[in-house]
Amino acid sequence: MPCDLVLFSIGFTGPDDMPLLPRLGLERNPKGSIGCGSDWQTDAPGVFVCGDAHRGASLIVWAIAEGRSVAAAVDRYLDPAGSTDLPAPLHPNAVPLSA
Ligand SMILES: Cc1cc2nc3c(=O)[nH]c(=O)nc-3n(C[C@H](O)[C@H](O)[C@H](O)COP(=O)(O)OP(=O)(O)OC[C@H]3O[C@@H](n4cnc5c(N)ncnc54)[C@H](O)[C@@H]3O)c2cc1C
Repeated sequence: MPCDLVLFSIGFTGPDDMPLLPRLGLERNPKGSIGCGSDWQTDAPGVFVCGDAHRGASLIVWAIAEGRSVAAAVDRYLDPAGSTDLPAPLHPNAVPLSA
């Protein structure tokens, strides 16, 4: 179809490259997102990841649940006794239920 200008406004393309990553010594994985251990901590000590940056382009409910889980992980990380009372609804490897 002939036209003068095409603008793509698609979203859902996942995390972008950003200067912060190489400064932290982090790279995006083959999925394009940033990996973490079971404690939500990236390969950069004390740096945690959640939401689309961790999961790739996803949904708000996952971002909220991951955000709450990371808050608990950070609280545990900062607590000298390594404990937290915050809810942690998700493990980083959690996937949606399939039908
Ligand atoms: C077009 C579109 C439609 C969508 N529709 C739906 C929908 O209907 N329902 C649904 O559930 N989900 C929808 N989603 C997905 C949903 O928006 C995301 O899953 C959710 O917003 C992810 O939340 P987040 O906090 O992980 O990331 P984001 O909401 O992307 O928040 C990341 C924040 O970090 C900021 N940031 C980035 N780099 C830096 C930096 N270096 N320093 C400081 N701040 C920084 C960004 O500005 C941004 O505010 C949609 C997404 C798109 C793109």
